[in-house]
Amino acid sequence: MLQGKNAIITGSTSGIGLGIARQLAKTGINVAINSYTDSQEDHKLAEDITQEFGVKAAFFSADMSKADACVSLVEQATESLGPISILVNNAGIQFVAPVEEFPPQKWDAILAINLSSVFHTTRAAVPGMKAFGWGRIINISSAHGLTASPFKSAYVAAKHGVVGFTKSVALELAEKNITCNAVCPGYVMTPLVESQIPEQMKAHNMDRETVIREVMLARQPTKDFATTEQIGDIVAFLCSDAAAQITGTPLSVDGGWTAL
Ligand code: NAD
Repeated sequence: MLQGKNAIITGSTSGIGLGIARQLAKTGINVAINSYTDSQEDHKLAEDITQEFGVKAAFFSADMSKADACVSLVEQATESLGPISILVNNAGIQFVAPVEEFPPQKWDAILAINLSSVFHTTRAAVPGMKAFGWGRIINISSAHGLTASPFKSAYVAAKHGVVGFTKSVALELAEKNITCNAVCPGYVMTPLVESQIPEQMKAHNMDRETVIREVMLARQPTKDFATTEQIGDIVAFLCSDAAAQITGTPLSVDGGWTAL
């Protein structure tokens, strides 16, 4: 049912986005991967996916902080792969500071990449999904889309915004065979998170296991990270026919964080 369908995954040259692209490719979906960069390694990631999973895969450079680039990503991916019926809005950045010291340009960048890009790509992709008669929009929000932490005002505002946008779009498309859901991960083990462990061990004078348990995963009751493969498989599930009646839902994948 999913084989041969075409997906765009924004911000997918590393971490969760790459995990999603790989798990979708594994189910036979052709994938458009994206970043704001344009290096040989970026294009190689797409070649590797084609080689490993036998699907069409292509890399598109587009800066998700820019409305025009969001639209052109949808246009270029459609031209290259065919009708885009799966859109995964994953690109996101973070910045941490007290609100009175929060640099306005960081606020603008986080709102643009983490929230406004979700609007721009969705707006551009929905007409194609309606014409195709089937669609899946999956927005990667966060546990911070449902709850807050201090010093993350822009991120928390943007991720809450993603959940609200998801619900509204789900209602608009409810009778069009197009679902729109948000995935709300807690802490996910990505190369970026892995690279922070040595610094945290040093800063807290703790061994790896203790720093993970007591500092990094202090709010995650399972005391374990989700993996990028797990997030990818959940996105693949939301694309499946089994999930046809799931729409407008923020799906928590946070080891119990928001149950606290
Ligand atoms: P990451 O930094 O590993 O990957 C982010 C990707 O987005 C990269 O491919 C990067 O090149 C791309 N990107 C950044 N700015 C971009 C821009 N302007 N235009 C296009 N692409 C851009 O991050 P990650 O941890 O994999 O996070 C992915 C998403 O998951 C984000 O939306 C993040 O908020 C969310 N999330 C992450 C975690 C976690 O624990 N890692 C938890 C909850 C939610």
